[in-house]
Amino acid sequence: MSIAENIARVREEIAAVCAETGRDPHEIVLVGASKMNDAAACREAVEAGIDALGENRVQEMTEKLRQHAYDGVPLHFIGHLQRNKVNKVVGQAALIESVGSLELLFEIEKAAAARGVVQEVLLEVNIGGEAAKSGFAPDALLAAASSAADQTHVRVRGLMTVPPADADRDTNMRYFHQVQALYVDMNAKLFHNECKYLSMGMSGDYQDAIRAGATMVRVGSAIFGARHYN
Ligand SMILES: *Cc1c(COP(=O)(O)O)cnc(C)c1O
Repeated sequence: MSIAENIARVREEIAAVCAETGRDPHEIVLVGASKMNDAAACREAVEAGIDALGENRVQEMTEKLRQHAYDGVPLHFIGHLQRNKVNKVVGQAALIESVGSLELLFEIEKAAAARGVVQEVLLEVNIGGEAAKSGFAPDALLAAASSAADQTHVRVRGLMTVPPADADRDTNMRYFHQVQALYVDMNAKLFHNECKYLSMGMSGDYQDAIRAGATMVRVGSAIFGARHYN
């Protein structure tokens, strides 16, 4: 299957789930998670109408930016971002989806102010309470979002989450619903319901994420094929 065929199939799946739940498929942003796929593969996805591309490593992103891999679509940063690499991402990525601590948020604010830009971000929720994962604990989210709302060079556009990889389907679905509830609450209390993005769901569970209210899905292997780690 080609990348274009895979994207068409994922779009069909999204349309089917939207039909089932009475939602408009146009409100779902399809982000191609293009890590470990080369610039040619990224361009193929752009040609085939992907809405955005997402990278999770700064060095890979920087190299592929130089190769014009993402020309024509917004670039998202979706991986763990170290504070000392913030300068390489701010102003390059249209959306940093993975802001999981206030330290990182303030670093982004500083870098964006220095560049004279407003950086759009999502706050990442560590919904499974995993020690090895970054992200705000659910009970810390509202206070963090409130600090974020006070910044002048960072604009919060919503939430992102990656549930624990080993969760069964019901548990995974429960996590999605919990993050959706946090999103609705935060959006109403702090952002006049102007946040647009609830980013959750990957190749294995994007349909369930949409059922639970996701407006953005990050799909890698179902579009680009299996990744080959060496
Ligand atoms: C790799 C990645 C994805 C996509 O994963 P697939 O299972 O290949 O669809 C989504 N989100 C993040 C944060 C990723 O790093």
